[in-house]
Amino acid sequence: VSTWSNVPAGPPDPILGVTEAFKADKDPRKINLGVGAYRDENGKPYILPSVKKAEEIVQSSKPDKEYLPITGLPEFTKNSALLAYGAESDVIKQGTVAITQSISGTGALRIGGAFLARHYPHSKAIYLPAPTWGNHIPLFGDSGLEVRKYRYFNKETVGLDFEGLKADLKAAPEQSIVLLHACAHNPTGIDPTPEQWAEISDIVKEKKLFPFFDMAYQGFASGSTAKDAFAVRHFVSQGHQIALAQSFAKNMGLYGERVGAFSLTTADPAEKARVDSQLKIIIRPMYSNPPLHGARIANAILNNADLYTQWESEVKGMADRIISMREKLYTTLQKDLNTPGEWGHIKSQIGMFSFTGLTSPQTKALAEKAHVYMTADGRISMAGLNGNNIEYFAQSVDAAVR
Ligand code: PMP
Repeated sequence: VSTWSNVPAGPPDPILGVTEAFKADKDPRKINLGVGAYRDENGKPYILPSVKKAEEIVQSSKPDKEYLPITGLPEFTKNSALLAYGAESDVIKQGTVAITQSISGTGALRIGGAFLARHYPHSKAIYLPAPTWGNHIPLFGDSGLEVRKYRYFNKETVGLDFEGLKADLKAAPEQSIVLLHACAHNPTGIDPTPEQWAEISDIVKEKKLFPFFDMAYQGFASGSTAKDAFAVRHFVSQGHQIALAQSFAKNMGLYGERVGAFSLTTADPAEKARVDSQLKIIIRPMYSNPPLHGARIANAILNNADLYTQWESEVKGMADRIISMREKLYTTLQKDLNTPGEWGHIKSQIGMFSFTGLTSPQTKALAEKAHVYMTADGRISMAGLNGNNIEYFAQSVDAAVR
């Protein structure tokens, strides 16, 4: 009898499973709105021109293949912190950000989960928005934290359940950890307004909660990296100590290169040095040190004023194309087709995703009858829509809800 005969079959990943079903479909009209990866106006993966240039710069310097330090490429992490916190931030000026390169955003979250499980001196409960990116739940559970929820989404308004959010954070035990999506909330596409962020910051302070920001989409929400960092910078300016996971998967299109960073703001340089030493102790037995190539690319962009400017305009280009698809989809459903229901949320939602309000049976019907694939919760990746498929998509939605 085999050693593994008692290993049960696990369910397929709810997001990556959608791509498998899409790939198996042979219909030429098929559309994949499942995975959160940007597509250009022809539905093709997009390599940013700034990334191509950065790669040339890296190649022409004839770099070696030596190991990076445990916490990664120092220049990259320095620039990554600058991008998130801003040059004017006290924590940057005082040199109190403890930071490490990570295996993209997921790896950053996992290092953070492990660090909090080991060193956070209070409650090991982490509050996640309901709903949240599906992977947050097993990720923090596997890190050794106790996963709990706070209300976030209001089904009736297809908007933020701000009253529920505030009530749940106020009811959480003092000094719990709270995960906040810094911008472009996944899967709902709904972010608090700056005024609401300020209120959340006050509650977090009052209840001594520990804020852990997941910033997987800086620049993708508004087209401006500074604007999208508002929540993070506001919390830091209000004196909160924060944890921050950054990803360069979406905003630089470096998905498979796995470039990210995890940071903690600390009280002073001596504390930062102690925290840095413990980050190394967590990382060394996990994967020893991070990969080189993607960090070199990201750093070549962040470190070069011209390339940086070009990159920012390309991020804006991606954000703007998504925003124009929101306009077009809204107009087609609401005005042209008179599709039953209220579709204003498609236009007001932010970032890569839209939470359409389509039900699980409707999403199933869309896959089977129209070859249109999305996650069962009705989330669509707006980036999968383009001038060639948006009419067909809108007509398919119209048919599915009638
Ligand atoms: N957080 C959120 C909210 C995300 O949507 C994603 C990507 N889907 C990630 C983190 C991490 O992605 P990656 O590991 O590719 O950077």
